[in-house]
Amino acid sequence: MAKTPKSPLKAETRLITAGRDPQAQFGFVNPPVYHASTVLYPTAEDQVAHRSRYQYGRRGTPTTEALEAALRDIEGDNCAGVVLLPSGLAAISTALIAIAGAGDHILVTDSVYRPTRNFCEGLFKRMGVETTYYDPLIGAGIASLFKPNTRAVFVEAPGSQSFEMQDIPAIAKIAHDKGALVMMDNTWATPLYFKAFDKGVDISIQAGTKYIGGHSDIMFGCVSANAKAFPALKNAHGLMGQCVGPDDVFLALRGLRTMAVRLKQHNASGMTVARWLEARPEVLRVMHPGLESDPGHAIWKRDFTGASGLFSIVLKPMSEAAVYAFMNELTLFGMGFSWGGFESLVIVFDCAEYRTATKWAPGGPTLRFHIGLEDPDDLIADLDQGFKAMAAIR
Ligand SMILES: *Cc1c(COP(=O)(O)O)cnc(C)c1O
Repeated sequence: MAKTPKSPLKAETRLITAGRDPQAQFGFVNPPVYHASTVLYPTAEDQVAHRSRYQYGRRGTPTTEALEAALRDIEGDNCAGVVLLPSGLAAISTALIAIAGAGDHILVTDSVYRPTRNFCEGLFKRMGVETTYYDPLIGAGIASLFKPNTRAVFVEAPGSQSFEMQDIPAIAKIAHDKGALVMMDNTWATPLYFKAFDKGVDISIQAGTKYIGGHSDIMFGCVSANAKAFPALKNAHGLMGQCVGPDDVFLALRGLRTMAVRLKQHNASGMTVARWLEARPEVLRVMHPGLESDPGHAIWKRDFTGASGLFSIVLKPMSEAAVYAFMNELTLFGMGFSWGGFESLVIVFDCAEYRTATKWAPGGPTLRFHIGLEDPDDLIADLDQGFKAMAAIR
C-alpha cells in the first residue's frame, strides 16, 4: 500500500501523488498501461457470478482508475466520482444526456462553447429537451427563467471567446432552491484555479484536451460530479459505452503531473502579455478577468485562484487586411483551434454568428490568444512585429 501522508496535501502535491502506488507495481513510478478488452475469470463459478476486480476493458482498467482517482483527488472532498471520455465535447454531451430527457428544459449561458450549443440545438432538441439561453451576466436574475421542468443550469466562466465572468454561487443558490442541478464547463480554470464543488456546482466538465493533456497531442474529456449527480452520470456513461483508449489515458495522467507548474507559467505569461496588449494604441479592450480593468475582475478575484493563458482582445476598427497582416507576420503564434498546449496560438472569432440571448458588438475586430510556455519577452517582440505589419497596411 502507498504510504499515507501525515497532513492534508495541497492540490499541487496531490497532482503528484494521486492515482499511483509504486509498491503495487513492482516499484515503478507510473502505473502500467493496460491495453485490454477481455478479462478472464479463474473458474466457471466466478464467471457466472462476475466475481472479478475488473469485468471488461470498456468498464475500467487499473490505468483508467488511476486517472479517475487523480482527477477526483484534485477536485476536492465534495467530488464523489469522475468519468473519462474521448473528447471534451463527448464529456459535455454525455453529462447533458445524463441529466435531461424528453420533456425537460435546461438553461444555458449565451457565452457557452459553440459545439455545446450545437448539441443542444441538434440532438438534444430531437430528443425533446428544450434549451433557453441566458445572458452570462444575469446572476440572480436567472430566477425568472426557470420552468417547472427545468433540470439544470449550464454555466461556463469565463466564456472561452468572450470572457464574461458568471456569478456561479448566486446562480447555484437559485438553481438549488428550484430543484435544478448546476453543470459547469471548467476547462479554462481547471480544478486548480476554480473549486467548482465548493462554489455550488454539481457536475464539472473539463476538455482534458486542453490543460490536462497540455501538449496538443490527445483528445480527452472528463466529468466530475458530487454525490447527488454522480449515479446518473455514471449510469449514462456506461449505457453509452463511453471509454478512452489506454494510451490517451496514460498521456492525460502524465500531463496531469505537470499541470500545476504549466498553469503557473501560462497564468504569469498570460498576464504579462495581456497587460502589454492593454497599453497598445491599436487595442480597444483586453478581455481577461485577471486584469483590474475587466468587468468580471471582482468576481474572478472572489471565486478564482488563478487565470490560465487564454484571453481575447478587441482591436480598434480597422480593415480585415490589417488584422490579417498582423496575424500573418507572427512567427511564434500558431493559427489554430484548441488551446492549453505548450505553444502560443491566435485566432479571429466573431460571437455575433451564434448569440441569441445577448447582442455581441465589441466595437472592432476580435482576436483570441493562447499564451504558451515561450518566454513572454519573445512573444511580445513577435506581437510588436505584427503591429508594425498592421500599421503598414492601415
Ligand atoms: C475545446 C473545448 C471543449 C471541447 O473539447 P474537445 O476535446 O475539443 O472536444 C469544450 N469546452 C471548451 C471551453 C473548450 O475550449
